[in-house]
Amino acid sequence: MRIAVVVALVVLGAGGALAQTNRPAKQLFGSVSVPADLAPRAIGGYAKGCLAGAVALPLDGPNWQVMRLSRNRNWGHPVLIDYLKRLSADAARDGWPGLLVGDLSQPRGGPMLTGHASHQVGLDGDIWLTPMPDYQLSVEEREKKSAVSMLMTGRHLTIDQKAWTHLQPVVLKRAASYPEVARIFVSAAIKQKLCETAGGDRAWLRKIRPWYGHDAHFHVRLDCPPGAAGCTPQTPVGPGDGCDQLAEWFKPPPPPPTKPPEPKPYVPPRETTLADLPGACTDVLNAGFSAGAAASFGMPLPRLRPRVN
Ligand SMILES: [Zn+2]
Repeated sequence: MRIAVVVALVVLGAGGALAQTNRPAKQLFGSVSVPADLAPRAIGGYAKGCLAGAVALPLDGPNWQVMRLSRNRNWGHPVLIDYLKRLSADAARDGWPGLLVGDLSQPRGGPMLTGHASHQVGLDGDIWLTPMPDYQLSVEEREKKSAVSMLMTGRHLTIDQKAWTHLQPVVLKRAASYPEVARIFVSAAIKQKLCETAGGDRAWLRKIRPWYGHDAHFHVRLDCPPGAAGCTPQTPVGPGDGCDQLAEWFKPPPPPPTKPPEPKPYVPPRETTLADLPGACTDVLNAGFSAGAAASFGMPLPRLRPRVN
């Protein structure tokens, strides 16, 4: 059953189309709590796009738990949700106890009010490098528990041997093993560690890419689904394991300037508006939502109980 609700009316009030296109896209997409009742489609680029027909990753599965429920960012293209379910099961068989799943996308993708430049088309997902505990986390724990950094504080890109175990490479190798994965972003120190310990089987390292941050979680990015018109892919990763391209990351940080730089007037960056996104994103924003999808979103908080083992 479809509910003929035009979410645009809720989002926009009587502002009209012109006012809508000039509004910051993050305000528009950040305030919609249900997916667009359209065929699943990743529209635009990972950092400038939106998502039609999103589905939610259930908050709990046999081998995963979604974190930070208040953010309502457990939405993705069906291929991402399917990937996460398969990864969680396969990694569990490898010995990784389960996935703590961070941000995927908003119900209609798009820019977010806080965090992330990407995660806009439903093909990006963050997974903690902390293994899932053997009980069901409470809603409060899912808000407050911190992901553990794999790096030592105050030491430039140095792995913390107390946090890093033999299991992080297990889940990362499995995560990179699927053909639909385009890239996985981790701290350069983590990539370096994987390069040192991978042994002879190194093909999977190609997709593990060094990036800033990503010391307490890894970020999976899937390719545009086959035949997905309007989904902008990233350049495929090059050949080789990439282990010979890490030196830049380990250069010591430059010394602080000896005299303070000339003050420059602050020019705030221009906000991305709806008009900056692909045109189809306006349709996504203004589409109704289905009762089925609506029933799958939200936080069934009273249902949560400690798991009986
Ligand atoms: Zn991410």
